Amino acid sequence: MNGQGDGRTPGAGLGGSRGTPPSAGPPGLSSHEAARRLESHGPNELPAEPQVPVWRRVLQQLRDPLILVLLVAAALTIATGDLSDAAVILLVITVNTVVGVVQEVRAEQAVMALSAMSAPAARVVRDGEERSIPAAEVVPGDLVLLAEGDIVAADADVLTATLLLADESSLTGESVPVEKTPGGDDARGAVSAGTVVVRGRGRVVVTATGADSALGRIASLMGAAPGLTPLQHRLARFGRTLAAVTLALCAVVLALGLVRGQPVELMIVAAISLAVAAVPESLPAVVTLALALGARRMADRHAIVRRLPAVETLGSVTVIATDKTGTLTEGRMVAERLWTPLGEAAVVGTGYDPEGRVVRDGETVTAGDAPDLAALLRVATLCNDAALEPPSDGAAQWSALGDPTEAALLVAGARLGLDRAVLDRQLPRLEEIPFDSDRKRMTTVHRRPAGGVLVACKGAPESLLRPQTLADAPDVVARAATQAEALARRGYRVLAVASADHENPVRRPPAWESGLTLLGLVGILDPPRSTSEQTIAACRRAGIVPVLITGDHPLTARAMAERLGIASHDEEVTTGGRIREGTAGDLTDVRVYARTTPEQKLDIVQAWRGAGQVVAMTGDGVNDGPALRRADIGVAMGRRGTEVARQAADLVLADDNPATIVSAVEEGRRVSANVRRFLLYGLSGGTAEILVMLLGPFLGMPLPLLPAQILWINLLTHGLPGVALGAEPVAPDVMRHPPRPPEESVLGAGLWLRILFMGTFIATVTLAVGIWAQETGRPWQSMVFLVLGATQLGVALGSRARPGSLANPFLLVAVGVALGLQAAGVYLPPLRELLGTEPLPPTDLAIACALSGLGHVVMRLQTRLKPERPPSGAGRR
Ligand code: ADP
Ligand code: MG
Repeated sequence: MNGQGDGRTPGAGLGGSRGTPPSAGPPGLSSHEAARRLESHGPNELPAEPQVPVWRRVLQQLRDPLILVLLVAAALTIATGDLSDAAVILLVITVNTVVGVVQEVRAEQAVMALSAMSAPAARVVRDGEERSIPAAEVVPGDLVLLAEGDIVAADADVLTATLLLADESSLTGESVPVEKTPGGDDARGAVSAGTVVVRGRGRVVVTATGADSALGRIASLMGAAPGLTPLQHRLARFGRTLAAVTLALCAVVLALGLVRGQPVELMIVAAISLAVAAVPESLPAVVTLALALGARRMADRHAIVRRLPAVETLGSVTVIATDKTGTLTEGRMVAERLWTPLGEAAVVGTGYDPEGRVVRDGETVTAGDAPDLAALLRVATLCNDAALEPPSDGAAQWSALGDPTEAALLVAGARLGLDRAVLDRQLPRLEEIPFDSDRKRMTTVHRRPAGGVLVACKGAPESLLRPQTLADAPDVVARAATQAEALARRGYRVLAVASADHENPVRRPPAWESGLTLLGLVGILDPPRSTSEQTIAACRRAGIVPVLITGDHPLTARAMAERLGIASHDEEVTTGGRIREGTAGDLTDVRVYARTTPEQKLDIVQAWRGAGQVVAMTGDGVNDGPALRRADIGVAMGRRGTEVARQAADLVLADDNPATIVSAVEEGRRVSANVRRFLLYGLSGGTAEILVMLLGPFLGMPLPLLPAQILWINLLTHGLPGVALGAEPVAPDVMRHPPRPPEESVLGAGLWLRILFMGTFIATVTLAVGIWAQETGRPWQSMVFLVLGATQLGVALGSRARPGSLANPFLLVAVGVALGLQAAGVYLPPLRELLGTEPLPPTDLAIACALSGLGHVVMRLQTRLKPERPPSGAGRR
């Protein structure tokens, strides 16, 4: 027998054998009954906060100081009978308010959609089947399955428990986890919503949901409350400074006008309009929208952002700390090498393909031919919580449930002809100590048919190959250790397997794991994902340092790190042991950390952050929560990770693929590039407007622009094109240079110089045209109006991320529409009346358009000559 054609057998009957024995508990609710209860009890969540009514949002927009000033100006113009100016001002206020409210609502919806995507889930039994449902749909009476890393979805009574430990600190403040056991009416027999399963497994029946339960804590755990992001904070501070400077300059314009004998109320309205035009008051809204849109694009690329600020932090990530199993590797492990004190054997076959066999000395062997191999894999199959499902229609492979390491052992057992269902029947499991990554081993106790018990144990070689654990002769243990090291060096994840037979079944847990007999070693290969190598290379190109943190053996870790390009052959590997002893030195000197515990991940994150780096870090276990929170960007796996890890993370990878982190970083960089783009465009326009109004009077233009004209330009340039800039694509080279230093100011890396340069350029062109028009007897004010607006729009076109491509057609349309409206301001009689312009001959319109093209050219030249790039070496150490 070689597993061929027999492949279905090992899977049969396994689905139900995970966890507590099949006899446990009632079958759970039917989906019909669950729907009825959901109807009558309501969803398992806190009542949603009432929506902010539209009138309140409008009022909030109108409370903006700049808008208040505009309202005063409107009143002033109406009082003086200047109805056309009043109309334009009211139009500006209306458009501003509408745009502001719409953007706010859109951003809010985007954030809500995000939190829905990362909503907590629960595993329940419905219609007799195990199912994962949103925690909000859990109803009283539901049978819920709990496992390590779950957040309890509702208050419930414990039916069965296997070493079920709950961390109730969120509820009681008590930091020591409480062991839960079925029955009894004290606190040990029940679990509460919002508490965390730190170890073990259990089945519980729900007693209270929603507001009746302790769910408030879940809400606080999710904590996706959108506050201001760091960028928005900096922008708000910057905006205040900007407003002060602008107001001062406007006061100068006002004074100049008065000195030159302009009417007082005209000058006041002009100064106010200028202030409104020059300050990019839509900036916070633009940023929120850019972040929310960025988050949505990330979601399209399978990266779900749980907090909006993470979008911008992602752009400045300098270190990505990833774990190995299931992240860089597929987590689809294959047991390839077997070793027993009697000799070696190889398992042949691909993945979970049922076709495969075990080969020793060139011959296919079965359980009957090789008792030593059979004993090794029998114990590895018994001490195992994974399950293989037989290939369902179409699929040619088994599908695995549970820990991939354990699934690999089941596959190897099946290839030797072992039948899990038969073994489980012969040797039913009585007790267990589940695997955890601190102890790095797992032990189960089984009832033997002839009486007494069998203890089955498997784990990392250093954890098992010790005199405290094994009763074997020292030379056997030494040979096994040598063999384990050789396998690890070749990149295998090695598990040692041991067992013991006891006549007396009443042995206590500590004694289970001593006096064992070593059965052998299993070498498991966890092939790297096809994308891992490119991901690491992409990190390096983008100036991000990749580091590997794993619970695996140092040699296995190094083999993988070398293969993926994380570390070179001679690079040092630090181990958890050395970190504990304090002999690891500076933790940021190495790139590979092996045999670490989740707690040590925290030390590593802190060391890197202490060195001024922005750290993204992956984690999936229940103990990874603190490190995920401490990292600048905690990353959890959407499929494989535990609920705790997902809820502690900033970023959830829906496809479990590390390449997605790099995509998210790219989107983050795109968002900050677009915010800078908007700043350059908006502020250089504002600068130009101020310069024109300041210098015009000295060049023979007493009032270069009327208030209505200024506001019209403001409306056109800030409106559509400004928002459209937020949708610009990534520049082709955005992932080929290091990230911006986190401490850099909003206008850092010379942005303010560029703003001044472009602003001066636009103003110079405008004023030159004004002078020329004056000298040639043209309607100069209308020329100034046209050129000032059009040149700014040219700059918008010139600041595109991918000039010459149609990547962001929205921007082209927006600029086109704005140009059309600008021309309409001069040619449409009603608008002409409103804005006080005069028609221009077509040649002059052509000249204005040609000059706006100049804005485009200069902007492009500027980018070409001095490409915007953060100082090189920013991301390196
Ligand atoms: P990783 O970061 O690679 O996921 P783990 O903490 O999961 O590391 O595993 C550490 C070591 O513990 C492994 O190298 C292996 O020897 C052992 N091990 C892993 N899974 C199990 C398991 N289910 N049962 C027993 N031992 C295991
Ligand atoms: Mg693991």
